[in-house]
Amino acid sequence: MANKYYDLIVIGGGIHGTGVAQAAAAAGHSVLVLEQTTLASGTSSRSSKLIHGGLRYLEGMHFSLVRECLRERALLLKNAPSLVKLQPFHIPVYKDTNRRPWLIRSGLTLYTLLGGFNRAGLFRSLDQKQWNDLDGLDTIGLEAVFRYYDAQTDDAALTRAVMHSAISLGAELEIGAQLVAGQLNDNSTVIQYKKGAQNITCEARTVVNAAGPWANQVLEKFTPAQAPHAVDLVQGTHIIIEGKLTKGIYYMEAPKDRRAVFAMPWHGKILVGTTETAFDAGADPGSVIPLEQEARYLLKTMASYFPAYRNLQTNPLCSAFAGLRVLPRGNNSDGDIHSHFARPRETVLLTDRETSPRLLTIYGGKLTAYRATAEKCLKQLQPSLPIRDTIANTRRLTLEDPGEPCTSPSR
Ligand SMILES: Cc1cc2nc3c(=O)[nH]c(=O)nc-3n(C[C@H](O)[C@H](O)[C@H](O)COP(=O)(O)OP(=O)(O)OC[C@H]3O[C@@H](n4cnc5c(N)ncnc54)[C@H](O)[C@@H]3O)c2cc1C
Repeated sequence: MANKYYDLIVIGGGIHGTGVAQAAAAAGHSVLVLEQTTLASGTSSRSSKLIHGGLRYLEGMHFSLVRECLRERALLLKNAPSLVKLQPFHIPVYKDTNRRPWLIRSGLTLYTLLGGFNRAGLFRSLDQKQWNDLDGLDTIGLEAVFRYYDAQTDDAALTRAVMHSAISLGAELEIGAQLVAGQLNDNSTVIQYKKGAQNITCEARTVVNAAGPWANQVLEKFTPAQAPHAVDLVQGTHIIIEGKLTKGIYYMEAPKDRRAVFAMPWHGKILVGTTETAFDAGADPGSVIPLEQEARYLLKTMASYFPAYRNLQTNPLCSAFAGLRVLPRGNNSDGDIHSHFARPRETVLLTDRETSPRLLTIYGGKLTAYRATAEKCLKQLQPSLPIRDTIANTRRLTLEDPGEPCTSPSR
């Protein structure tokens, strides 16, 4: 029997893989997504769950990234209102806070400008009399509290919603399907994957490697051999603690190293994150686990802002999770993760050849910008893809969590 043939096969069912599937299906292409475990089982369920421009990226002068993310935030607020919600964010400034009020005011002004002056871009410094109303925030030594707006989501639900949208446009999904090998030929790529005890072969005109932290392991499975892009993997841990935040999200500065840490409401509890710890690039990304010292660092930061959390006995840790950030190395990076703020934050798209690429690998990226990233992938693959009639525009597609595992009708 002849192999089943697709315009595009995507390896990985995280936000990037599902985003590419949605964009390809919307452009009229036949597409199959292979996911080795379940949708969003990798980084896409272990993020800080923010749909944001990334105020802190302004310090690294990543203006185009911030502008793109703010544009995508506006689209998601419109297209996924049940999944992406605008939230008040608070930045408390104490006498010993590193980032001074003038710097925060300038940053927020620039953030508003890059976001194109809309309701979501409004910010202000709260009156002193409002400080006592901020979920028990320590007011001793407090000099100012800035309130601005950004958005929060459920990353796994968003990923499922994007896949659901792709399926409604004709995309197919194979869950529990692990890529075993890929053979790049002149006019097509033969893909072999394993599903349970079955070995299945299919073919595609183009392949997108959206395996997140597994991207270089997936690349190794292709013949002829492909040169990988050098990356660093950085572990980010979040903890979930008992308690409630009713006034929104807090943007804190860790006392130890002045890094940004968020505390936010999450399913009736509080989510605090994130850390940055080097992860061995040769280790299995599936083995990432929260470390004890990371949990301590986050609890200490929370306690330094909220006195009620200074007694660990009465505020036990409920759970913790860790995910891996893929930081592509650029010309200026030295592999030191502690200088990573200065590292290029743009997503790297690596193709097997310049003209008519057959294989494209996605390195890095943001949950927020998945749709823009997917558009860029399709643009790069366009010379290799057959001409099809566009059936939808991803800028206008409504996203809703199907609330159940995604399945494609034909499988
Ligand atoms: C700690 C942390 C916090 C973050 N916070 C934010 C945030 O608040 N906002 C934001 O915009 N971005 C955030 N990000 C970035 C964002 O989460 C990631 O860029 C995004 O989730 C990456 O998605 P992905 O699809 O590339 O990878 P993943 O979600 O990891 O998906 C890769 C998938 O590939 C599958 N796979 C691997 N190998 C194979 C194989 N051989 N065959 C089949 N399938 C395979 C895996 O099972 C996995 O499901 C954060 C990242 C981290 C690490």
